[in-house]
Amino acid sequence: MMGENQCVFCVRSKLEERIIYENEKYYVVATLGQIKLGYTLLIPKRHVLCFGAMTKLEIEEATAMISCLDRYTAEEFHCSPIIFENGIVGQTIKHAYLHFVPASLQLTERVKIDFPGKEMDIVPSLDWVRLMYSDRQTPYLFWNDCNRKSVICWNPPAPLYYFRKIIAEMLGVPERADWRAMDSGVDRRLWSETVIRLKKYF
Ligand SMILES: [Zn+2]
Repeated sequence: MMGENQCVFCVRSKLEERIIYENEKYYVVATLGQIKLGYTLLIPKRHVLCFGAMTKLEIEEATAMISCLDRYTAEEFHCSPIIFENGIVGQTIKHAYLHFVPASLQLTERVKIDFPGKEMDIVPSLDWVRLMYSDRQTPYLFWNDCNRKSVICWNPPAPLYYFRKIIAEMLGVPERADWRAMDSGVDRRLWSETVIRLKKYF
């Protein structure tokens, strides 16, 4: 079993250089593998597999942070972020995290094409992800694209880093899909700038 000790998101020193903000429960970090400048992650400090498995209070706190990060990203990078989670599907790190990418993309149509026949739900809030997940205990993809609608797709056979793959492709930089393979010099320059530019808002 994967213990917290092996999980990179449970080791603060692995994130430290890329932390934009933190409080008792969450980190906001610039991600490794900057498909686009301004790409951040919201990571709970508690080792939990997905946002669906979190408590009502944790989701309330996450919701407040999402709204700040959404606003700050839009203001600094002149584009509202698309937000998504690999809810146990296609996660490369087995710890919950939400992605924020300042890009105006339609993810919903693409997910429908890639996973035909898979059940999808439009949900009014992240708390619904928690409620539905606690009932179903099923892996999911969750996203909020440029239509600003929150959608869940249940149990799709998505490959590793599925959303990164389709976003990198849509943005014309498919070589950035795999964060482990991205040019580390270019990446460092981008994530350093992301940290500096967003830090001032918190
Ligand atoms: Zn962890």
